[in-house]
Order: sequence, then C-alpha cells, then structure tokens
Amino acid sequence: MTKFARAFFLAGAILGCYAFGTYLDYQASTPCDPRVVDAMWPYIFDNPTNPHGMGIQHKKSMDAVVRARRQIASLIRAKPEEIFFTSGATESNNLAIQGIAKAYARKGHHIIVCVTEHKSVLEAARHLEGFIVTYLPVKPNGVLDVKQLVKAIRSDTILVSIMAANNEIGVIQPFDEIGRICRKREIIFHCDASQAAGKIHLNVKNIDALTVSGHKIYAPKGIGALYIRKGVKIVPLFWGGGQQLGVRSGTLPVPLCVALGEACAICEKSMNREAKKISFLQKRLLKGIIKLVPNATLNGDHIKRIPGNISISLGNIDTGEVVRLMSNFAISVASSCYGQGHTSHVLQALHASSRNTLRVGIGRFTDESDIDLFLQDLARALRQLKKTSFQQNYELLSGY
Ligand code: PMP
Repeated sequence: MTKFARAFFLAGAILGCYAFGTYLDYQASTPCDPRVVDAMWPYIFDNPTNPHGMGIQHKKSMDAVVRARRQIASLIRAKPEEIFFTSGATESNNLAIQGIAKAYARKGHHIIVCVTEHKSVLEAARHLEGFIVTYLPVKPNGVLDVKQLVKAIRSDTILVSIMAANNEIGVIQPFDEIGRICRKREIIFHCDASQAAGKIHLNVKNIDALTVSGHKIYAPKGIGALYIRKGVKIVPLFWGGGQQLGVRSGTLPVPLCVALGEACAICEKSMNREAKKISFLQKRLLKGIIKLVPNATLNGDHIKRIPGNISISLGNIDTGEVVRLMSNFAISVASSCYGQGHTSHVLQALHASSRNTLRVGIGRFTDESDIDLFLQDLARALRQLKKTSFQQNYELLSGY
C-alpha cells in the first residue's frame, strides 16, 4: 500500500465523519483516531504474518503485540504479561466474572455487583449457576456507599465487580477504596474500566482484574483487554489452541492489538490536556441546555464524573422525540444500549425517567462549534415539539 493510497483512505475516512453529521455520543463509541489507524495499517496490508507462527517474519507480528501489551499495561500501571486481548469489554467482563467465579468456586459461591453495572457484568453474574449474587444499590447521586459493600461481604464472598465509571451517567465509583477493602479480605476485585480508561488516571495496585474496551478510546470496535493480576486464577470461557497462556485461545488480531496499544499510548500522553478541554466544552454545553430548559437536572454526581458525559433529564420533555428531530446529531436517549421505549436500569436506580433523559458525550474531536450547533438545533427541536403539542392539544379540545 503506497503512502498516497494510505493518505487517500485516511482523508476519505475523515471526510466521511463530517458527512455523517455531528458526533456527540462518545460514551456509546468513539471514532478511530487517525494515528491509531496509521499504526495498525502496516499489519493489515504489509505484514499478514501470524504472531504465533515460527520464524523471523512471524516474530515481527509478535513484537508488535508485545509492544501493544506494554502500552496498555503502562496506561493502567500493570505489567505487560498481565494483559490479555479479547474482542471487547463484553467478553472481558464475561471472562472475568465467569472465569474467576469458576476458578474460586471451592472457596465460596457469593458474588457482589452494583445495580448500575453494565449488562455484560449483570448478565454474566446472573448466568452463573450455583452462585448467589448480591446487588448493591447506589445513592441518589449514582455513587455506591462503601459501607453497604462492607455490610454485604460474607465469609463465602469470592468476587466483587464494580465499574470505575458508569457509561450512562458518567459517575466515578470509589474503586480504589473498594479495591483496598477487597484486598484486606482476600476477595478478588474486578473493575470494568471501559468508560474510565484513558479519561482518568488508573492504577491497578488494588485491583485484581480490569476491563478495557478499544472503541471507547479511539481504537476500532472488536478489540478489548482484560488485565488479570499475576497469581489470580481464571477458567477460560472457551477452548482452543492455547494462545495467551490458554486464558484466551484464538489467533491474535495483530492490527487490532496494535490499534489498542496505540490508543492507550495516545490517551496516556494527552489525558490531562484533553480532560481540560473536554470539561470546558461540557460546562458550556450544560449551561446552554439549562438556559433552554431551566428545570433540567443533571443525573449523577456533579463532581465525581468522567469528563465529557452529560446525562440530563429535561423535565417532562420526550427526549425520544428530541433525538428524532435532531437527526443531524448522534446523541442518545439515556444510553445507546436501549431501544426507544426501553427503560434504563441505571436511571431507574436513580429514580430518573429514561423517557425524559438525554445523553450527550463529548470527546477528543469535539470543538466549540459542535456545542454551539447542538444548542441551536436543540432550541429548534424544542420549539417544534412545543408547536406540535400545542396543535395536538388544540385538535383534541376542538374535536378534530
Ligand atoms: N462496559 C461498559 C461500562 C460499557 O460502556 C460498555 C459499552 N457500552 C461495555 C461494557 C461493553 O463494551 P463492548 O462494546 O466493548 O463489548
């Protein structure tokens, strides 16, 4: 692949993003960073070797995987040999919960999770046969009360799984304190950091297993990682050629591994600067929304939240209609995991309504003009909604 063709493809991808409209749903997924695409490119076109193969050419692929492991480990302060590649956070969460629970089944059958976890944690725990699962509630601000966790721990508790940051409301859980509590009691602690990695500083010192997802940090979809602390036992989800120490069999997708590594390295380098810029845009957007809808309320803790997330209830406004009317913007009602008409278990835990909630996610490629355009279009959508509901009421009252 020539340099020219490469530049042509990249330019096409960037232009494609603009043709798509304005992207403001960074919690649902992130666009690929061109630097990430650039890093993975040679392993798609120029080097098709198998990292598990013999010989010098194959070794080039394995070297790239080793480097990617180092980059991921560095972001979360782990050791490279503690990083296992998966297909994404759903697989990492299932592997952690099912794999650790099965490995420690002799010690106990009790697991603790939080009600606001992602479905890939809740469902993985629910499908464990013979285990008892305790679901911890959250406070009205979406943050878990650690005293409730301490109270819930039993003599047969083997695993606690609490996310670092929530994908719907952006709230950061006290994961470091939870880790310390678990470590003291010799309970394995898994943390789903899909939404926190690359946005806030993470250190796995008190964490035994941690989930990362590629498409939340500007790498492609279909790649993720699970950090497993050395010495923690795990039963694989499936069986095969025994790659990655048998924890996760299957030929490694080298371009995707390289992409995740590069995405982590970029995040590590630019995290502080990016968080500052994104927080500034977040404040501007929030101020603008409240100006348009004075009774709007931000869901979740106002301070303990990741930069870029706005989950906001707009009084009694039907946000499904708002999203439909703002068709040039990629935004979500509550979360992208739910279709219209479905309720969010996270908002339910906060006693907030999914029907009236809007989630906007700001990220690396958002600028002030995107925020201003969004606010202009939101104002137009709200005016249109008002007009429609006035007409409907008029027709109802006048018997049309
Ligand atoms: N956990 C959290 C917190 C998430 O936000 C998501 C994606 N919405 C997942 C897990 C699942 O991620 P993936 O799409 O990589 O499987």
